[in-house]
Amino acid sequence: MKNIFKNRMIKGMVTIPVGKDADEADKLGVELKARIQKRFGRSFHIREVDTGSCNGCESEIIATTNPIYDIQRFGIDFVASPRHADALLVTGPVSKNMALALRRTYDAMAEPKFVITLGDCALDGGAFKDSYYVAGGVKEILPVDLHIPGCPPSPLAIIKSLLDFLSA
Ligand code: SF4
Repeated sequence: MKNIFKNRMIKGMVTIPVGKDADEADKLGVELKARIQKRFGRSFHIREVDTGSCNGCESEIIATTNPIYDIQRFGIDFVASPRHADALLVTGPVSKNMALALRRTYDAMAEPKFVITLGDCALDGGAFKDSYYVAGGVKEILPVDLHIPGCPPSPLAIIKSLLDFLSA
């Protein structure tokens, strides 16, 4: 214990500043929270479905909830059930074996509901477009309200896109 304390005293503070993206997220988040409160009077609930991604898009979505971006504080909540969701967030090309599950998830949501696609694969299949197992982009199966481009989009780009969408 004594050695641990001594090492801490010698090394000093090792936490690095979080950077300008986090500062910008802080600013955008204030607007995002106000928008969500105005439109929904509560949090904006999102159900995420991966229909065959490489998990790059999921990593960035998860990053929006890390201590740097902490998107929950702005009123965005990721939920496990489509019945609790305002929006369906879809990543990846739609693989043939996920097309029906995607449709059923959408059908289980209450109105009004939104469909948001995230990443180039969800738009039209992206890097996996001509693969034998890809049914197509999400828009071939569901009405899409917002597309967040990128391969993958950064957490800040995701926050910006949500703000623009909810401000429209
Ligand atoms: S858009 Fe890029 S990061 Fe996202 S699932 Fe496709 S290949 Fe992966």
